[in-house]
Amino acid sequence: MASGVCVIDELVVDTSALISWPITELSGAVIVKSQIQELERHSPSRADMIDAIGVIVSGPSQDAISSTSMFAMETGDMGGLSVTDLHLVATAYERGGVLVTDDYRMQNLAERMGIRWESVNSDGISQFWTWKLKCLGCGREYDSPETPAKRKGLLGECIDCGSKLKLKRI
Ligand SMILES: [Zn+2]
Repeated sequence: MASGVCVIDELVVDTSALISWPITELSGAVIVKSQIQELERHSPSRADMIDAIGVIVSGPSQDAISSTSMFAMETGDMGGLSVTDLHLVATAYERGGVLVTDDYRMQNLAERMGIRWESVNSDGISQFWTWKLKCLGCGREYDSPETPAKRKGLLGECIDCGSKLKLKRI
C-alpha cells in the first residue's frame, strides 16, 4: 500500500490574479499587504470576499527583500518593478512558493532566482533577459537603481540631457 503525503504548492499571487481568478481558487493563496490597498481601490467588494475566503497575508523578511533586490539589480529589472512586485517575488523566494503573475519583469526575475512561476492570462516569457537603463536622447547608460520605482514605469530622466530613461535589452 502506498501512502503518500500530498504536498500542495503554495501560490503567491499578484494583483491581476486577485482580480481575475475565481474566488474559490484563491483560498490559501499568499499575498503581500500592499495588495489589499490596491484591491480595495480597484474593487472593495472583491476585497471583502477575498478577506472572507482566507488568503495568507505575508510580509517578506528583510533578508529576502535584500537578496531579491540584489538579483533585480543584476538582471536590470529593478527600475521596472513596484514595491509590491519586489515583495511578491521575495515572498515566493522565501516561502518556496509558486509565483503567479503576468508581469514579465517579475517572471524574468523569478526565472533568474530559480523561483517557479505561472502566468495568469498570458503565455509568459520564454527567454531570460538582462536589461540596462539607458537614455533615449544621448544614449548614456545608467546603473540599476537600488530600490523599486515609486510608481510603476517611472524610470526617471537623464542627468545629462533631460531625456527619458528606458530599460533596453542587453
Ligand atoms: Zn541623456
